[in-house]
Amino acid sequence: MTFANLNDVLIPAKKEKYAIGQFNINGYDWIEAILLAAEIEKAPVIIAASDRLVDFLGGFNNITQSVATFKQMLNITVPVVLHLDHGQSVERCIEAIDAGFSSVMIDGSHSPIETNIAMTKKVVDYAHSKGVSVEAEVGTVGGNEDGLVSGIQYASFDECLSLVNQTGVDALAAALGSVHGKYVGKPILGFEEMKALSESCNIPLVLHGASGIPQKDLDKTITFGHAKININTEINQVWFKSISEHLAQNPDSHEPKVVIEPTKTAMINAVRQKIVSFGSKNKAL
Ligand SMILES: [Zn+2]
Repeated sequence: MTFANLNDVLIPAKKEKYAIGQFNINGYDWIEAILLAAEIEKAPVIIAASDRLVDFLGGFNNITQSVATFKQMLNITVPVVLHLDHGQSVERCIEAIDAGFSSVMIDGSHSPIETNIAMTKKVVDYAHSKGVSVEAEVGTVGGNEDGLVSGIQYASFDECLSLVNQTGVDALAAALGSVHGKYVGKPILGFEEMKALSESCNIPLVLHGASGIPQKDLDKTITFGHAKININTEINQVWFKSISEHLAQNPDSHEPKVVIEPTKTAMINAVRQKIVSFGSKNKAL
């Protein structure tokens, strides 16, 4: 199989207490930068497409083929997971799986828990029959959660356990104080809740909205069972900074390649730093 799934990379990570970075793509330059950074650091990596951006990126098949082509062209040897982030429905997850994604997230967190469990179970049954892994979410990550703006609502411990036990899901995003996008003020994470949940549910936890969380808090989230950390905003900020600096210095630029090329180096460096800070450097060896 071209791509690894979450179990291939998260089970060893949870056991040895490091985390694998999930990096979201916002264009095709992101694919190349993420793959190159992971290969340099010899780290397993998760490349994710957010459901709301799939059509903008050319659709599921286009994404699968592009990631596979870049992987082959760049001689990438580290395990690469191709993951659907915030899958909006059972049908969208099935579409991603049929197109060759090796992992999907079904986000039923905005529905009542019974509906969330039923949706997750349907996706798990289909995905597992194809060797594809599934992530689910309980509670609400603060900020703009893929189009839905909301306050933080901590995941309920009992709801998390029911979902895990009734669905057989592979990884769980339990909202415990993190925020999508930029933090306003200091993030307040529920470390006690994380610890208790990780010990009871026994599957890797996923940290959404990790951009901007200080290193010492990230280390704690990893100690308390998070084996997958999602990064989107921070890499995009690096991309914008590179473009704006170039345009400020060269206001008459008219060659896109000259403007865009430095963004790749900037993104590679940013992804490399994240991999090192998650402790997954050299874990593909
Ligand atoms: Zn998220």
